[in-house]
Amino acid sequence: MTSFLSELTGSFSQSAAENPTVAVMEAGYAASNLDVRYINCEVVPEKLSEAVSGAIAMGWLGFNCSLPHKEAILEYLDELAPSAQLIGAVNTVVIKNGRLVGENTDGKGFVEALRKVRDPKDARTVIFGAGGAARAIAIELALAGAHKITIVNRSPERGEKLAQQVDSRTEADCSFAPWTPGFSIPDDSSLVVNATSLGFYPHHEETLDVDFSSFRPGSIVADVVPNPPKTKWLHAAEEAGCISLTGIGMLVNQALVNARLWTGETLDAEVMHQALNKALGLA
Ligand code: NDP
Repeated sequence: MTSFLSELTGSFSQSAAENPTVAVMEAGYAASNLDVRYINCEVVPEKLSEAVSGAIAMGWLGFNCSLPHKEAILEYLDELAPSAQLIGAVNTVVIKNGRLVGENTDGKGFVEALRKVRDPKDARTVIFGAGGAARAIAIELALAGAHKITIVNRSPERGEKLAQQVDSRTEADCSFAPWTPGFSIPDDSSLVVNATSLGFYPHHEETLDVDFSSFRPGSIVADVVPNPPKTKWLHAAEEAGCISLTGIGMLVNQALVNARLWTGETLDAEVMHQALNKALGLA
């Protein structure tokens, strides 16, 4: 018998309108003939609790939580997967029998995208930011064998705390550097990552206060911001002869992992990549 009741997944964030994940997920589900929907929801911090109750009441398979909920969601969860526990932030929640399990797939998506260009093993890395994305990336890079990680963040307390956690919980040598005006990237850096929200549409004219002449040709410069894919940060890196890595690969790879957690199915990465390019007006 035909069922008119789809399975539900989605995202809780603020501002949801700029988040293209819905286009990626729905294209992936459709290409695999799955009757699953992905609903992009605008959820303000004061309503997160009610949104979570609603998802449970409606039998959702799970949901993503993006800005600003990745840490606030922790208090509503019954269980944390090991990497989410280490990272201390959750971007994906799986609902099973009314129980909420928190996962973190941000860092895994980033490392998988990076591996297509270079092995993270022994990388000497500078990461700007100390929020959820930076933490996920720092931990996963450390687990993937990055040798040295320098955290640079606007608020020193948050940056120092992250550096201390990565240093003590992983094999990587991780330290904090204050974000001085016109920050100069250390000479030996092979990977430089913008893991702040600087440059995200509609604030795409903003960029990091970094001396771009300190970019080393041949090094990899990455951005977590997927929209626009080519940020001012990446334009500057390419002009300096660096290899640029957009936030798109990270987004598609983590979407694949999320769908697997919710449905048990592996979706078509190429279809999802094309859907993202189309959503961002690149195809
Ligand atoms: P958080 O709010 O947890 O952290 C934001 C970070 O950006 C903090 O380090 C904050 O510094 C810094 N920051 C914000 N504004 C400024 C500014 N004006 N100057 C300097 N630093 C600033 O956010 P997330 O870590 O969750 O997300 C960060 C970005 O990553 C977002 O743009 C998000 O969309 C993107 N992202 C992309 C993914 C992908 O798949 N491509 C996946 C996950 C996230 P401070 O600590 O001082 O406030």
